[in-house]
Order: sequence, then C-alpha cells, then structure tokens
Amino acid sequence: MKPIPTIEEYLNLANWCYQAKRVELGYYGDFFWIKNSSFTVEDLDFPKQPYCILLILYDAVGFAPVSLGKEAGWRAVGDYAVSEQKSGRSEINYGVDFELMIIERTVTDAEILDALGSNCTFIDDEQEDDSRFWQIMNKLQPYCYLSSSDKSFCTVKSKSLRDSLNTPEIFAREEQTHRDYARAERAKAWNDLGPECGTEICVEPDCSRLRIKLAGRCFLHQML
Ligand SMILES: [Zn+2]
Repeated sequence: MKPIPTIEEYLNLANWCYQAKRVELGYYGDFFWIKNSSFTVEDLDFPKQPYCILLILYDAVGFAPVSLGKEAGWRAVGDYAVSEQKSGRSEINYGVDFELMIIERTVTDAEILDALGSNCTFIDDEQEDDSRFWQIMNKLQPYCYLSSSDKSFCTVKSKSLRDSLNTPEIFAREEQTHRDYARAERAKAWNDLGPECGTEICVEPDCSRLRIKLAGRCFLHQML
C-alpha cells in the first residue's frame, strides 16, 4: 500500500501539484486570440490613443449595459453601453462575467447596431469558431475584444499584445492562487476533523495512527 504522507506534509502541500488550464492561441485574419489564460484586465496594455469602451454584456442583476448607459459618461445603444472617450488605463472591474470591446476611435450608434444588431451576446465559449463573431470584429475593428467568463477570451490586432497575456508570470500567479487556496482548504479540514485523538487506532490495514473524532480512520486515510 502506498504510504500516506505525514500531517505536516499534507498541510504543506508536499504531495500537491497544480493542474494547469490548457491555454489556446490562434489567429483569424488580422486578429490574434487567446483563450483560457488566467490574465486579468490589469495585465492588458491599454491603447496609446483615446478610446471608448463598448460594453456588450455585464451579467450582474440590475446592472446590464443598457442601465449603465443611463449613467454619466455612458450612453445606451441597443442593449449595450458605450463610454465617453477615455485615455490611459481605465478601471474595468465588472465583477462577474462581462464582455466588451475597446475601440480606438469614436463609434456611432449606427455602426454599433449595424455590427451587433440590437440584442446579441457572444459568450458561448466558442468565439474562435463563430463566423458571425469575426464578421463583427471585422466591422468594428476593435483594439481589443475581451470576454471574461469561465474561459477568458481576448482578441487583439497585435501578436505581441496577445502574447503579453500568456506569460510565465501570469501562469505563476495562477498557480500561487490555487496553492494558497489548497493550503487553506487543507488547514480548514485539519481544523474541522483533527486531531487524531483515538482512543482506537485507524481501521485501515497497517495503519497505527489514532482515529479522528468522527470516523473510524485517521485523518489522512479519511481524506485521501
Ligand atoms: Zn490511517
């Protein structure tokens, strides 16, 4: 039988390894895309010239793009919202799933409605295979299209900008986040189920450790 780790090894993740997500990269015409990377908006370089944000989807109760369009600095166009012209970095923190374009020019309502129709969303995790999606990209020519959901998807017109969202630092940050989470989960489990106070020993063969309070096994035989 495989030896079980010590409690210390378990709590310190000695037997833990990170299963990385499979990042996908590709291109379509002039656009380079990346899918499933762990980048955030903070990793994205913003345009050097003035731009507006076209918010297509914002999946928060009572705060759809169209309602954002009533706020100062935004206008509603169909089901979407368009920001006034901005420059430099923008705070883009839409919390849950969102979908937007950064466009380096002034876009008219007619252009937006012609490209998108008055009510559409893309988030289906398959933008790269969706010919209508690429038609819209070709019409609006955004600096960046970004969808943040279970599988983040970004397409830009610069290969180096795309590649800046797929770096060892971003991967390491993701791994560290998972590592911190796993460590906290294991510490909580030990806190909840430990200690091994017996008085009988674990029921597993060849295990001489004491049982935890609520089971017939020692902590690690109960967990693993
Ligand atoms: Zn045991």
